[in-house]
Amino acid sequence: MYNPKSMQAEEFISHDEILETLDYAEKNKHNAELIDSILEKARQKKGLNHREASVLLACDLEDKNQKIYKLAEQIKKDFYGNRIVLFAPLYLSNYCVNGCVYCPYHFKNKHIPRKKLTQEEIRNEVIALQDMGHKRIAIETGEDPVNNPIEYVLESIKTIYSVKHKNGSIRRVNVNIAATTVENYKKLHDVGIGTYILFQETYNKESYEALHPTGPKHNYKWHTEAMDRAMEGGIDDVSLGVLFGLESYRYEFAGLLMHAEHLEAVHGVGPHAISVPRIKKADDINPDDFDNGIDDDIFAKIVACIRIAVPYTGMIISTRETEDCRKRLLHLGVSQISGGSKTSVGGYFNPMPEDENSAQFDVSDRRPLDDVIKWLMEMGYVPSFCTACYRSGRTGDRFMEICKQQQIHNFCHPNAIMTLKEYLEDYASPETKEIGYKLLEKEVKTLEDAKIKKIVEENLVKIESGVRDLKF
Ligand code: SAM
Repeated sequence: MYNPKSMQAEEFISHDEILETLDYAEKNKHNAELIDSILEKARQKKGLNHREASVLLACDLEDKNQKIYKLAEQIKKDFYGNRIVLFAPLYLSNYCVNGCVYCPYHFKNKHIPRKKLTQEEIRNEVIALQDMGHKRIAIETGEDPVNNPIEYVLESIKTIYSVKHKNGSIRRVNVNIAATTVENYKKLHDVGIGTYILFQETYNKESYEALHPTGPKHNYKWHTEAMDRAMEGGIDDVSLGVLFGLESYRYEFAGLLMHAEHLEAVHGVGPHAISVPRIKKADDINPDDFDNGIDDDIFAKIVACIRIAVPYTGMIISTRETEDCRKRLLHLGVSQISGGSKTSVGGYFNPMPEDENSAQFDVSDRRPLDDVIKWLMEMGYVPSFCTACYRSGRTGDRFMEICKQQQIHNFCHPNAIMTLKEYLEDYASPETKEIGYKLLEKEVKTLEDAKIKKIVEENLVKIESGVRDLKF
């Protein structure tokens, strides 16, 4: 039985409820009256439940779909303005004991070079990331209690925060490591991580078990209840995701929303962000071997429907996707993207061709960060390197509260402007600088609150004279 308040994975992600939801959505996909009423509710910008959102996802009435896209764009603007937050992944180790059939790190893969960065190598990676202009990273490892124990992850995080090169600093380390214990989540919280990220991969238990045939990740319950343990350990920003292509996308969509409903119901705070990765070609992995691949149109519809269903959550798209695809999804709801990413272990400092072999998947958007920044600004977006919220204690329910009241602009927009200014001063190419300074001028003018505007103007002058890390 479906019970979002239950702490049992099989109850808050109820298989029967998902099947009933999909059936309901299929039966109502042409029900114009129902779709209109769901859209009406969605216009209040308080979100939708998994059943309502599943009807929108299934809907194939062209005029209604156009309304869905328009509403997603509007919600995106209302909650996130024109800001796009930038980050980069940092792969620490690709040693892994799991047998995930879609991932090149699976332990049976004997031809992928296995690597684990030393603390000195991590320093080099961090300097390379700082020299690009990054302030926010997501660390990634395979699961291997011998090679990548929690102590290694903790030590690495401390190293990352300790590196101060020129004007650079990594101010927020998000963590994407395998499901672990409450005790270990506490340790991660204590070293000051930002968000804990864990992709469910698939919400379908049977498929999950088949796709993870061996290793600790095989345990569906352990994996699915990880976010509850993370919250219990004090981490109040968690990020969900599924790997699209493994299971039917409608099943995953309903499961994802049920997971968000569960976090809200139990912890009073939904996911800080949702990632929407699609399966990619990788060493020993051919995406065509999986039957549930989705095309760009369905992908766009999923993003729009998530945006409408969970307006307060950030949405993340990585360099797995092409420039064109990312452009389309930015309009529909994505608020965070990676840029200049390397998915190989040690790939930033030492981008050797052979390093590419240790990569987790092929990257489709290979542009340097500066090109991505310029591209965003040319489209009217304000690239943001902001990490202020979490460092000012605006996390979990405090962040959600401000966000749900659509007040987060008062913090995010000034911080976006100031961190973009830092980027332009320290790292931008002359062409990017030229576009950037014009954009900043325009953005400062649009700040409505006179007090905030004055502080931002003063801070921009301070940044010009070399002061860094000013924040709201
Ligand atoms: N090892 C951690 C765990 O067990 O969750 C997560 C780290 S893994 C480096 C990050 C994510 O990459 C996985 O959760 C998976 O969704 C994704 N991934 C794995 N293989 C992929 C592929 N072939 N294409 C795209 N993404 C992939």
